[in-house]
Amino acid sequence: MSEDTSTPSDESSGPETEHSIGETAQQQLTQAAAYVDVSPDIIEQLHHPSKIQEVTIPVRRDDGTVDVFTGYRAQHDSVRGPYKGGLRYSPEVDRDECVGLAMLMTWKCAVMDLPFGGAKGGVRVNPKELSELETERLTRRLTHEFSSFIGPTKDIPAPDIGTDAQVMGWIMDAYSMRNGETTSGVVTGKRPAIGGSYGRSEAPGRSVAIVTREACGQYDRPLDETTVAVQGFGSVGATAARILDDWGATVTAVSDVDGGIRDPTGLDVANIDAEGPLTDAATGGGIETISNETLLELDVDVLIPAAIGNVITDENVDEIEAGLVVEGANGPTTPAADEALEDRDVPVIPDILANAGGVTVSYFEWLQDINRRAWSKERVNEELEDEMLTAWEGVRDEFEARSVSWRDAAYIVALSRIAEAYDERGLWP
Ligand code: GLU
Repeated sequence: MSEDTSTPSDESSGPETEHSIGETAQQQLTQAAAYVDVSPDIIEQLHHPSKIQEVTIPVRRDDGTVDVFTGYRAQHDSVRGPYKGGLRYSPEVDRDECVGLAMLMTWKCAVMDLPFGGAKGGVRVNPKELSELETERLTRRLTHEFSSFIGPTKDIPAPDIGTDAQVMGWIMDAYSMRNGETTSGVVTGKRPAIGGSYGRSEAPGRSVAIVTREACGQYDRPLDETTVAVQGFGSVGATAARILDDWGATVTAVSDVDGGIRDPTGLDVANIDAEGPLTDAATGGGIETISNETLLELDVDVLIPAAIGNVITDENVDEIEAGLVVEGANGPTTPAADEALEDRDVPVIPDILANAGGVTVSYFEWLQDINRRAWSKERVNEELEDEMLTAWEGVRDEFEARSVSWRDAAYIVALSRIAEAYDERGLWP
């Protein structure tokens, strides 16, 4: 059921905590705005979402009782195109988290130069406590409540934590049935049988691998001499680990929600079952079990946090020994930790570039849906590689020209494109 499920920390990401993703997104924008020649009016506007939709979702449980859940859709900005972003089912979901994550989507789409704005939504629910039928009823009722403000030219949801291709399929069906016409382009991340794209589920992990490879090249680190630890063995972490292993890197540790495994000589990640508890793989040889906290602190060349947000914080940053951090999850590093890593010259390749393969292949899927013509997996992967390299080079140029962090460089690229669109469109009425 989950796209990306590890929960290595029990920290709340609610608005009162210092680790709120909403707060992180606001601080990152303030910091990056100092580097760009963009009108303060536009920056002020970007600190606010255009709209936040909140809906109530009554769901009949299998035992006949009814539970009521709350769903949100934060639509941050649409100056460059329809709102775009994931939909998560998680007990952590709240307005603030959706707004922060929607902001990240605006920057992510702009860094990739995709014709989309940013949104994020979710339902505050633990999907592990729902049966499949309950999840289906929740999803269909959510779609009914969302139907006036989602659509292929308005706002296009996609999988995120706790949702997957099946959930997208139910949304597509419910939306289509209501409207009396099959509307594949209302969501991305569906299965290919109903207009999904080949390569979409692996795309975020593939982009993490591509960006890790480029970053290693940037710092003269041959991949076949590079050790990697990956937190999260959902679609992002498992795919990134397998591709990097395939390209010659040594993946020494991986973890899922229940903990991790480590082998300093390298794990056989291609043969580790992403469905089962990872710790089951620690049956022999030199494999030891480790906690999620320990994984983050391993002495590796590259650390890839690819599970949830707010895992590298001021509390553990001094223990981080990796020489390079590549953000597979959205918002895994708090601003205080970011600053501490920067002070120690540990580069952090930001989420809005590293995991942007997901929304990039979502864009390919949307194009395929509009044109009613499927692309081969080879074509998807080739075009993804091209898009990632173009984005990487754009961000690297800013990084080198301005001596800023990788995150600020990515924000500079994004904000410049967004500001140009604002200037062209003007303010009305
Ligand atoms: N949830 C993914 C992300 O955070 C994908 C969003 C999309 O494809 O719209 O980037």
